Amino acid sequence: MTEPTKWVFAFEEGDGKDKKLLGGKGANLCEMTQIGLNVPPGFVISTEACLAYLDMPDRSLPPGVMDQVHEQMAALERKTGKGFGDPDNPLLVSVRSGSAMSMPGMMDTILNLGLNEDTLQGEIKATGDSRFGYDSYRRFIQLFGKVALGVPDELFDREFEVVKEHAHAKQDVDLSANDLKEISERFLKVVEEHTGKPFPSDPMQQLEIAVKAVFNSWMGKRAVDYRNQFHITPEMANGTAVNVCTMVFGNRGDDSATGVGFTRNPGTGENELYGEYLINAQGEDVVAGIRTPKPLARLSVEMPEMGRQLGELRDKLESHYREVQDFEFTIERGVLYCLQTRNGKMNAAAMVRTSVEMEKQGYITKDQALQRVEPISLEQMLFPRLDPNAKTAPVAEGLPASPGAAAGIAVFDADRAEQLGKDLGQDVILVREETKPEDIHGFFAAKGILTSRGGKTSHAAVVARGMGKPCVAGAEGISVDVTRREAMVGGTTFKEGDLITIDGSNGYVYIGAIPTVDPEFTTELSTLLEWADEASRLEVLANADTPDDARLARKYGANGIGLARTERMFNAVERLPIVIEMIVAETPEQRQEALNELLPLQRKDFRELFEVMAPHPVTIRLLDPPIHEFLPDEHQLERDLADLHVLAQTTRGMTALAGTMGLLHTPENERIAFDDLRHVMDPMMVEEAIAKKTTMLRKVRSLHETNPMLGHRGVRLGISFPEIYKMQIRAILEAGAECVAAGMDVQPQIKVPQVCTKQELLRVKSYVDEIHAEVEAAYGRKVPFKFGTMIEVVRACMRAESLAEEAEFFSFGTNDLTQAVFSFSREDAENKFLPLYNRSHILQDNPFEVLDVKGAGKLMKLAVDWGRATRPDIHVGICGEHGGHPASISFCDEAGLDYVSCSGPRVPVARLAAAHAALAHKAE
Ligand code: ADP
Ligand code: MG
Ligand code: MG
Repeated sequence: MTEPTKWVFAFEEGDGKDKKLLGGKGANLCEMTQIGLNVPPGFVISTEACLAYLDMPDRSLPPGVMDQVHEQMAALERKTGKGFGDPDNPLLVSVRSGSAMSMPGMMDTILNLGLNEDTLQGEIKATGDSRFGYDSYRRFIQLFGKVALGVPDELFDREFEVVKEHAHAKQDVDLSANDLKEISERFLKVVEEHTGKPFPSDPMQQLEIAVKAVFNSWMGKRAVDYRNQFHITPEMANGTAVNVCTMVFGNRGDDSATGVGFTRNPGTGENELYGEYLINAQGEDVVAGIRTPKPLARLSVEMPEMGRQLGELRDKLESHYREVQDFEFTIERGVLYCLQTRNGKMNAAAMVRTSVEMEKQGYITKDQALQRVEPISLEQMLFPRLDPNAKTAPVAEGLPASPGAAAGIAVFDADRAEQLGKDLGQDVILVREETKPEDIHGFFAAKGILTSRGGKTSHAAVVARGMGKPCVAGAEGISVDVTRREAMVGGTTFKEGDLITIDGSNGYVYIGAIPTVDPEFTTELSTLLEWADEASRLEVLANADTPDDARLARKYGANGIGLARTERMFNAVERLPIVIEMIVAETPEQRQEALNELLPLQRKDFRELFEVMAPHPVTIRLLDPPIHEFLPDEHQLERDLADLHVLAQTTRGMTALAGTMGLLHTPENERIAFDDLRHVMDPMMVEEAIAKKTTMLRKVRSLHETNPMLGHRGVRLGISFPEIYKMQIRAILEAGAECVAAGMDVQPQIKVPQVCTKQELLRVKSYVDEIHAEVEAAYGRKVPFKFGTMIEVVRACMRAESLAEEAEFFSFGTNDLTQAVFSFSREDAENKFLPLYNRSHILQDNPFEVLDVKGAGKLMKLAVDWGRATRPDIHVGICGEHGGHPASISFCDEAGLDYVSCSGPRVPVARLAAAHAALAHKAE
């Protein structure tokens, strides 16, 4: 014979670990009871009963459930010495829902169940307090009516207001026992009219109706929507439990109270009791905001003994759960009861602090301390945030392109930004339609960047992220008018000098300056990240192009630079003309001349990077982008030339000259470069300007490519124009030699981009060997260096075995690799079809944000294995944007990579993610 199913568990017998069966609230009520905390007696009807009930064709409770409930109610009567439905000494209970995961949309709690005309009188006699009795009664009728019988709240509220008005009562507490009596009578009528049946007066019948209502709420629309929205699967939570709990009363006078507490401050993590309470109040009054609650610190003054007991409760909860708890309590006439506990939700700073402090207290291990903190959440701690108390409504929304918040005056071009920001020290937000490489000095001077066009990979977004500055990109609601130095958004305009605020973490734009809260790299965060480094297998390096980037990366704990992009260095204002000179050079000699000018500049760049990072490695990628990116725009050149031809005609007549000058300063002609204006007096010089622009245009046209990203770039460029790579290699090695001479321990690494065959590597390696010998001879020192390659094209993966013969390290460029694996161009994909693909579940994620482990990742794994087959100690890492993404980092750990490299501000996130990955893989 099979045992009858056990559906119902007393708080003394339920398994506190089995949230799936008992729900979160129920399991914890059991657990608290069993460790000796003062929980009012009660029992849990299991989630299995819920599922079985929902399967019953006739909507009756499964056989056995009510029998077991009867048994448990009898037990409650014995424990409390009261009787359910007993008019002389009535037992009242609450009926509360609770599934394995907390879920708004589940049924609200019913308090004071068991009241009817008879038990009410008993309750009044027992307490000698008729006001209390009627107050409990009217609450019960309303809650039961609303929750279990579906009577709309407004019907009750209406009656309530009528009586309140008659009684001239301002607040609920001003109502007398008689008023409350009248209210309950009216409420009973409301229920009867709405349901067509009298209010159920039999307590056991009330209980059965309430239990069924809780179970039904599991399939209610609100709950179902919530589960869909947050992808809560049946494995995570299936069915709700019902908790039946003896009522205790916080509204029994001034020696009673109710409140909620946090065992530690959830805003800061400080180890102090935190929370609020109300004297003489019941249940949800605290959260409902009817009266203003007092901070828990007051309790020790108002009720010292209760304050002490609450402190004790807090310690017991924490030492048992070993986690910060969020709990509910009630004091009935000087006796403290705990009614609920669960793990506290906290912000990142509080999580970090409590992790470190609980480890020190011996509550948790270092591994547990690390695992408690979500890596991504650390971003909250590393960027300025808008002061949550000072937010107003945003005027526009763009893409959250680079996290952090900034406020400052709007400025519409890079030069003004530099003037006002750098020279005058003002806080500046650079506002552009979109940005270009030549705006870079404006970025340096600005606190934040706002563009009205472009996506998350636009120039503005990429550069801002690299610098760790906030950026909102593609805020299409804003129309920027550079000539008038203003922008329109909605009905308003803001001009140069007007204050605006951007929040790059969510893409919002505000008019006016909203105060921001600075990030702080707390000592607790440093400690936690040190533990992370000890636990992880992967090293974390940073992508950094400038000494400032490198310093930031060091501060955040990067163990070197995994990617320094030299093109950023070419874009600096004072260099761009030399770079252009080099590109347009007609002969190798001319080109060499320009390169000779660039060499000392690059050497200085590299030396500074080496100095900041010593003794850690600095990996420098040789020039990668197609060189026409450094040249002016073709259409712009065409327009300039047309203007110049007009100018040439006008300058021919000396008399017309003055007139021309006037004309030249109109906004229409503003786009003619200032350079050209100076030559206006002299027709010869105009001709010269025309010749120069014509040459440039010819060059631009000759360098034009249909598909620049698949065109003449990377190592291909280095092979067609060896002088460029040779200059860079020389600059790296000479900078290394200088550092060695200065007694520094440096590790320069030379990385070749876009490689697809060993022959390419061999070619570049031959430059390196030749120059290395020269440099060592010239400086009379040994200069250490490593030579390696980016792995970012499919063929490089397939030929990894052969590439490893030349390369001492592999660095996966997963952005290009992802484009190659999918044959998507990132810009087009993200702007055109990827969102649709994601929405329609053709692709789960954006593979440019979350590494495509199944496709690109598989190739990477093959490349790692093949590379190691040739060179077992080959150093392998990733330097794409994915390097800062926790899920991708976990994959890199599994795939056996040695390091990840990400933008400086992402380094802490990556360090923690690397630890999580190692711990997870150790556990497997
Ligand atoms: P929620 O999930 O909305 O917090 P609860 O079931 O915890 O719902 O109850 C709502 C309110 O009623 C809480 O303030 C709780 O403390 C209070 N409450 C629940 N059961 C009892 C009880 N048996 N005695 C006194 N107060 C109770
Ligand atoms: Mg509630
Ligand atoms: Mg609660």
